[in-house]
Amino acid sequence: MRDGLAQAAAGIAAMTAPNAWEPVIGLEIHVQLATRSKIFSGAGAVFGAEPNSQACPVDIGLPGTLPVLNRETVRMAVTFGLAIGAEINRFSVFDRKNYFYPDLPKGYQISQFEQPIVGRGIIEVPLDGGGSIAVGITRAHLEEDAGKSIHDLFPGETGIDLNRAGTPLLEVVSDPDLRTPEQAAAFFRRLHSLARYLGICDGDLSQGSMRCDANVSVRPAGERKLGERTEIKNLNSFRFLEKAVRHEIHRQIDLLEGGGTVVRETRLYDPDRDETRPMRSKEFSDDYRYFPDPDLLPLEFGDEFIESVRAAMPELPDARHRRFREQLGLGEYDAAWLTGDPDIADYFEEAADACEDAKLAANWITGNLAGNLNRDGLAIGDSPVSSADLGKLIARIKDGTLSGKTAKTLFDALWAGDERGVDEIIEARGLRQISDHRELQTAVEEIVAAHPAQAEQFRTGKQKVLGFFVGQVMKATRGKADPKQVNELILKALR
Ligand code: ADP
Ligand code: MG
Repeated sequence: MRDGLAQAAAGIAAMTAPNAWEPVIGLEIHVQLATRSKIFSGAGAVFGAEPNSQACPVDIGLPGTLPVLNRETVRMAVTFGLAIGAEINRFSVFDRKNYFYPDLPKGYQISQFEQPIVGRGIIEVPLDGGGSIAVGITRAHLEEDAGKSIHDLFPGETGIDLNRAGTPLLEVVSDPDLRTPEQAAAFFRRLHSLARYLGICDGDLSQGSMRCDANVSVRPAGERKLGERTEIKNLNSFRFLEKAVRHEIHRQIDLLEGGGTVVRETRLYDPDRDETRPMRSKEFSDDYRYFPDPDLLPLEFGDEFIESVRAAMPELPDARHRRFREQLGLGEYDAAWLTGDPDIADYFEEAADACEDAKLAANWITGNLAGNLNRDGLAIGDSPVSSADLGKLIARIKDGTLSGKTAKTLFDALWAGDERGVDEIIEARGLRQISDHRELQTAVEEIVAAHPAQAEQFRTGKQKVLGFFVGQVMKATRGKADPKQVNELILKALR
């Protein structure tokens, strides 16, 4: 009996153990700014060019060269700051962050340390299950990226590609306000969406356009003091961020419950094994010997510049979401889904304009279109069905030319690359719905006459056979009849 109780107690303890620890997460996200040239030189900043073809003497810091700040990066940083209601610092300073690495031939990275361009702000992050959390933004600063070390091209050797050296980055640092892996991923997603809306980043995660470092610690529930943290470097997908953070939380809890201590270090996430591994012990800011870069003047601008940036701000996700709800009458789910990505929102608005039915356009986009894009791994910009064609298709449902079924056939034809116009395909493929009353009437009468047994069942009260008859008629008309009309005609014929 006592054993049983002890066992039960141990079971309960084990079940509640994860709740005894509170995870704390803060993210540092590097947003690659979508400028045409580098932050301090005129070299191109396009991804995927021939190695070392886009690194000029300034990017690699050859003696005698001087950096010149790219004005566009300042405009983008201020755009971001305004979008999150942050303090915009009219005076900020570029510093040298000194360290040695083969892909940093200058021996220092130009960054901002004590006086960043964007100060405190807040990002409201919508959560999957509804609701939202407010996440504090500590700061956002401008800096240059380093080059790339290529370890997998030449066996036994490392290649250096300096194309990325000098690419402009906005590093956004969050407060340690996140509490779960899901919240961390939702924050990253929100920042991604915001950057895309603002047009400051192309958002292509697979090319490293946004990279996230996750700082993770745990503390006993109810404790105010933060626990020691580790930092997981270079996560470039929402899913990897979520998995890496989840893994790291469990690793730290296991470690602490086993009597160990967490040490401050930088770790790498290995998605193949779903684990994090130590990379190096954490350096502290002292190690970098930050000092103001003597080659660059402090960055100063006035209210006029800020106001000119504000005047050019695009509509933001929240405003668009509100407009979709209030003016277009969309439900919460549709509005949230459609405004997550500005390209999808644009596509939706074009299709809805073309068919003058926002609700139907939303249904087709969140349903068939999203399904196909997902299946074929395409972005909305690559959709074989244009927004104009989808709008036209929906208009043809509304005017009775297409049934739900033939509309789907038409959609599939467009998706498969049929380049004729919507109306042409409808005629060529015989997709026009049979709305001729007499033609349908004859089809119904023939079917009822051909199935006397089922007709008798209906008359003796078996309502379910109605579905059988509708199916038969739809089959006979190859899906081209209006199901509502068919229903009515069958009921009449059976009675
Ligand atoms: P560093 O100088 O090492 O970059 P910062 O103090 O600037 O450290 O913090 C970097 C990031 O780490 C921020 O996103 C911050 O929210 C987060 N962070 C700081 N302390 C903790 C902690 N104990 N647990 C989790 N995240 C933390
Ligand atoms: Mg840091």
